[in-house]
Amino acid sequence: MASPDIIIRNGTVIDGTGAAGVRADVAVTGDRISAVGDLGAMGGAEEIDAQGQVVAPGFIDVHTHDDRYLFTHPEMAPKASQGVTTVVVGNCGFSLAPWRNAGETQFPMSLWRDREDLMFETAGAYLEGLERTPAALNAAMLVGHSSLRYGAMDDVHRPATDSEIGAMQDSLRGCIDEGAIGMSSGLFYPPAQAAKTEEVAAVAEVMAAKDGIYTAHIRDEAEHVMDALEEVAQIGRDAGVQVVISHHKASGLSNFGKTKQTLPLIEKFQEQQRLTLDMYPYHASSTMILPHLVHRSRKIIITWSQPRPDVRGRDLAELAAEMELDLEAAAKALAPGGAIYFQMDEEDVQRVLSYPGAMIGSDGIPDDQHPHPRLWGTFPRVLGHYARDLGLMPLEAAVHRMSGLPAAQFGFKDRGELRDGAFADLVIFNPKTISDSATFDAPTEPAIGIDRVFVNGQTVWNQGRASGERPGRPIRLGDTSRGGYM
Ligand SMILES: [Zn+2]
Repeated sequence: MASPDIIIRNGTVIDGTGAAGVRADVAVTGDRISAVGDLGAMGGAEEIDAQGQVVAPGFIDVHTHDDRYLFTHPEMAPKASQGVTTVVVGNCGFSLAPWRNAGETQFPMSLWRDREDLMFETAGAYLEGLERTPAALNAAMLVGHSSLRYGAMDDVHRPATDSEIGAMQDSLRGCIDEGAIGMSSGLFYPPAQAAKTEEVAAVAEVMAAKDGIYTAHIRDEAEHVMDALEEVAQIGRDAGVQVVISHHKASGLSNFGKTKQTLPLIEKFQEQQRLTLDMYPYHASSTMILPHLVHRSRKIIITWSQPRPDVRGRDLAELAAEMELDLEAAAKALAPGGAIYFQMDEEDVQRVLSYPGAMIGSDGIPDDQHPHPRLWGTFPRVLGHYARDLGLMPLEAAVHRMSGLPAAQFGFKDRGELRDGAFADLVIFNPKTISDSATFDAPTEPAIGIDRVFVNGQTVWNQGRASGERPGRPIRLGDTSRGGYM
């Protein structure tokens, strides 16, 4: 047997299955893990001493908006710095591909006109793009239902006709055949609000034969969160596909405590159908500037504003006072733009995070000028602040939520678990010091305690810096353990 390229010695291996950590060495040969155990007699071309550190599978960020960032910032520092090795792009109904002319004047495509080479007309072209100009991290793509609507409809502010639904089905079927792993919807957002439940189910149904996954930013996370959960569960049943409830929360000051009702409902669905959820570990959300959200929040920070680029990072209430406008009028004047809304209860956040089936997804918005700190802090925050400091769950359970669990739910074969033969997507971190540094005031501070990160056997992050290597690969539906095996 050829000697391994790398041996990581003396670390505590947490394998991503939820099993207790064990002292073991890990050998990497090429892009795979080639041995795990006491490798005392073996010699590696490179030897790494991980004494006092945890060696774990690289984290899977199941909820991202990194579609374009993978190309514009291929080192993927906000994620690599957290130990993330795979991202799922195209969430909340918006995907970069398939790009259609009709969408060019619509959000977010309207922000993406500067690079013609990144207007991928098909999912296949997008995934080939990731092969031709690789990023540091692996990526799987969802097709956005809103993006499909832009491509199929002349006016998205009404329900789709039968022929438009047919066009969306054809487009989605093509994307799935080319390797997209599923579809996302964002029924909360204007380009999809007019879509009926039946429309989404009819479109999603074309994925059933290949078991594509359906991720849902639900229609309402506030007063009507229970109805909105019922709706996407219905879509999953009617379409015959697995559902992922995106960034689960109860929004709005008047809905504090509502996850006491939503989680039992989710549990009920789970007895009847394949349904799961992801979440990010913060009590503030972030999206575009939407004036109707201002009264639901304790505080609002502007992340970017097209008419007022100077106000990024500032408090909306202060700006409104300066502008001599009420909050809603100030928000209208600052749009289009993005904002952070302090509209969740910390107890709800902890309740969802404690739910055993909850996966971790950052929902970071990488092009925001003053982003929500979840972009740079999500995974270390769960491991450090919530698991270690608050004791919400054992470290092994926290690692499982961000590796083995999402790999199983999304069908990422040979990823998410640290074992012989799996891809060498690995993170070495210090369990005593790991913590998020990004804050609402200073949101782009890299986390502490992440020592080294490997993707497909190559180092992408080392001692606080990107290595410059770009070993990431697209993960296509056919390469997964989904892809028609149902
Ligand atoms: Zn969303």
